Amino acid sequence: MDKEIRLVFHNRGLRSYIEVDLCYECPRQDQKGCCAYYSPVFYPSDFVYWLKTKPDLIDYLFSLPHLTVLDASVTLNHVIDGLSYRCRFHSKESGCLLEQHNRESICRHFVCPGISWEKEPSLAHWKTFFDSLNDYEIKLNNQLADILKAQNLSLRNPTQRSEIFALLPAELERLTKDSPAFFSSCPEREEAVIIRPVSYGGEWPL
Ligand code: SF4
Ligand code: SF4
Repeated sequence: MDKEIRLVFHNRGLRSYIEVDLCYECPRQDQKGCCAYYSPVFYPSDFVYWLKTKPDLIDYLFSLPHLTVLDASVTLNHVIDGLSYRCRFHSKESGCLLEQHNRESICRHFVCPGISWEKEPSLAHWKTFFDSLNDYEIKLNNQLADILKAQNLSLRNPTQRSEIFALLPAELERLTKDSPAFFSSCPEREEAVIIRPVSYGGEWPL
């Protein structure tokens, strides 16, 4: 069955994201969709953003069990849920507990292959934008990780975390002083409607 799918692309620089109306009635019909299979990984640029928007999220994340804490990242490992898994920020009643701009990179940009909006020639500018953003975020977070390493700071050490969170905002500001050209290659907001054949349950590709 063909279905109209509405996408809204948001250009917010480093915090850009893609909204998809189909997610509210995900064809997987398991009330968790792609969030069943992912363990979000938070990097320094996410922590800096949280410090501005919702600083309590940092303490909340570190209070949770079953994290993988590396020197410059934190993974919230998913849990077994029925026959699959579930991201621990996901609830069947209200979806992701994070607003989209507060999510980590994959969770802001990912749209399942069943929708494959990237195949639309009219949206090629957004594909270039999000590909560039992905590379830019990786580069920035690697640079921030190198800065922490050079100062012998690691998120693995709980006693160093306040020093790290005091240091990161100024370092990210310095590294992003000059906005990359692709930031101005797309409008602040653009809506698109595409038509795709929709299959249900396990037949819907993730
Ligand atoms: S699987 Fe696709 S439709 Fe379902 S929640 Fe994920 S992105 Fe949305
Ligand atoms: S953080 Fe939110 S969007 Fe990302 S996998 Fe978890 S519930 Fe889904």
